[in-house]
Amino acid sequence: MKTLAQVRRQLSSGQFEFTRHAFRRAVERNISEREIYEASLAAELIEDYPDDKYAPSALLLGFSTAGRALHFQVTFSDNDLVRIITIYEPDPAEWIEYRSGGKSMFLCHVCGFTTSREDFVSEVFTIDGRRVLVEHIPAQVCERCSEATFSRTTTERVRSLIYGGGTPIRTVPLDVFALV
Ligand SMILES: [Zn+2]
Repeated sequence: MKTLAQVRRQLSSGQFEFTRHAFRRAVERNISEREIYEASLAAELIEDYPDDKYAPSALLLGFSTAGRALHFQVTFSDNDLVRIITIYEPDPAEWIEYRSGGKSMFLCHVCGFTTSREDFVSEVFTIDGRRVLVEHIPAQVCERCSEATFSRTTTERVRSLIYGGGTPIRTVPLDVFALV
């Protein structure tokens, strides 16, 4: 199991990846990798989850250079990368506890399966009330439950594409259904 200092060092030097939940949060809340580097440098441990189902994890609090508070729950297990399980600006009402992953190269944080495949997925994000579809996103997909894990690089590329003036390849009408 890693120490807090090791996890901070990995987070602030880009050695991390995202669960699908954290990937969606980082994009929808426009949290950049630079803000994660900054916030993790002196991040403090808020809550410890040493007995989490598949891997020990903890909730950290840090601040970007501009003063943005970030909570991030991350794995402390001895695999290569720190996995960001969820990330958000502190708001207790939005807290969702996610199980963590990673004792071997791949360990699904949802079902515990250890085999994954490289695949491409699509995600619909809600950005200030506007729906944005991003296709062909590379992901590690669990062979059993299909939960996806996203790299740091991919997450930053998607975020930059949406906020950095990327040009949509097409615009499509959207039918919306609801269960009432
Ligand atoms: Zn799985």
